[in-house]
Amino acid sequence: MLIVQKFGGSSVADAEKIRRVAGIIADTFCEGHDVVVVLSAQGDTTDELLEKAAEINEKPSKRELDMLLSTGEQVSIALMAMALEKLGLPVVSLTGWQIGLLTDSSYGSARIKKISTERLRRELDKRRIVLVAGFQGINRYDDVTTLGRGGSDTSAVAIAAALHADACHIYTDVEGVYTADPRKVEGARKLEEITYDEMLELASLGAQVLHNRCVEMAKRYSVNLEVRSSYVRAPGTKVKEVVKQVEQMKISGIAKDSNVARIAIEGVPDEPGISFKVFRALAKNKINVDIILQSVGRDNTNDISFTVAKSDMEDAARIMREVAETLGAKNVSVDGNVAKVSIVGAGMVSASGVAALMFEALYDAKINIKMISTSEIKVSVLIDADYADQAVQAIHNKFFAD
Ligand code: ADP
Ligand code: ASP
Ligand code: MG
Repeated sequence: MLIVQKFGGSSVADAEKIRRVAGIIADTFCEGHDVVVVLSAQGDTTDELLEKAAEINEKPSKRELDMLLSTGEQVSIALMAMALEKLGLPVVSLTGWQIGLLTDSSYGSARIKKISTERLRRELDKRRIVLVAGFQGINRYDDVTTLGRGGSDTSAVAIAAALHADACHIYTDVEGVYTADPRKVEGARKLEEITYDEMLELASLGAQVLHNRCVEMAKRYSVNLEVRSSYVRAPGTKVKEVVKQVEQMKISGIAKDSNVARIAIEGVPDEPGISFKVFRALAKNKINVDIILQSVGRDNTNDISFTVAKSDMEDAARIMREVAETLGAKNVSVDGNVAKVSIVGAGMVSASGVAALMFEALYDAKINIKMISTSEIKVSVLIDADYADQAVQAIHNKFFAD
C-alpha cells in the first residue's frame, strides 16, 4: 500500500518525540508499505517565527513572511531524516518546491493548484521513505508560499490525492475527532467515523483538529482519511463520505470559534438597496461576512448587524463608518468580545427540536444569544466570548449526557 502520514507540530516538538515518530514511520515502512510523510514545524515554531518577524517589522510583506514561516517545516524534515538514517533506513527529505507543489500567489493563505508527482514517484521507486515539508509550496514566480495556519494537513491530503494513495493518516496529539475539543470539554467522546461534510463544518467552525481545506480536498478526491494519535496506537477517527449509524446521535460535534467580531450599523433607512450598499462596500474590500441579521424595522429604520473575522474588524468598522455617513445611519457599533459556538450533525435535517435543545442548554446556563444562523447540518450562535467555554460544556452535557 502507499500510505501518506502527517505528523503535527506537537508530535515532533523535541528529539524524544522525533524518535518516537520515527518509530511509527519505520514500522509502517518495514511492514512493506510505500511511505510519504508530511511534517509540520516543531512545537510552537511558527508562532515564534511570527514573533521574531514582529520584532523587526510589525507589517512585513507577506512574501517575506512566507519565506520565514516555511523554514520551520524544513527543520522538521531534516531532523526526522536524520532520525530515520540513524535507524538505518533509506530516506530523503524534500521541500514544497522540490516536489513541485504549485500554489496560487495568495501569500499566507495560498491554494494548491498542482503537484507534479515525478520526484515523489522516483524516490518511492527507489524504495525510500519520502519526507515532505508541509504548509509550503511555490507560486508561478518560483516564490515560496504558505497555505495558512494548520495547512500541513492540506499538504498531506493533496499529496495523497495526487499519488492516489491508499490512505492518508493525520497523526496528532489527541486520539481522533471528538464530539468537542477533548482538552477543554469534559466527557467529549471519540467518534469512530464522521462524514466529510460534518468534518468540513466542524473544521470551518473552529475545531482545529483538521484544516478545513484539507477536508474539502479529501471529499473532492475521495481520500481515505483518518485522524490518529502519535502517542497511543489505537484506531482513530475515519473521515468518509457515508458513515454507518452506530448509535442515534442527534449531532456529531460542537465547535467554538473565538476569531469573530460583530459590527452593527444602526438606524439605516428601511428601503430597498440598503443591504446591497452595506455588503457591496465590504465585498469590494475583500472582507468576508459570516452571520447577518437585520432587525425588524422601527420608525422606518433598521439595524443591520453581521460578523467578520477578528483580523478584519478594524477595516470593516472603518468601512461601515463611511457607509453610515452616506446612508445617514445613526451609529456603528463594534464588538470584538464575542465567540461563535456551533453544533454540527447530518441527522439534524430529519430530527426536530435539535436547535431548541441547544437553546435550552444556553438558557439553563443563563447565557444570552446575540445572533443565530442555521444551515441543513449546523446551528451557530454568537455569544459573549467570556461564556464560550461554559456554553460549549453546557451544550455538550445536554446532547451527550449518558
Ligand atoms: P497538530 O499540531 O497535530 O496539527 P492541532 O493543534 O492543529 O494539532 O490540532 C489538534 C488539537 O485540536 C487537539 O489538541 C485539540 O485540542 C483540538 N481540537 C479542537 N476540537 C477538536 C475535536 N472536535 N476533536 C479533536 N481535537 C479537537
Ligand atoms: N506550522 C504551521 C502552523 O503552525 C502549519 C501546521 O502546523 O499545519 O500553522
Ligand atoms: Mg493542525
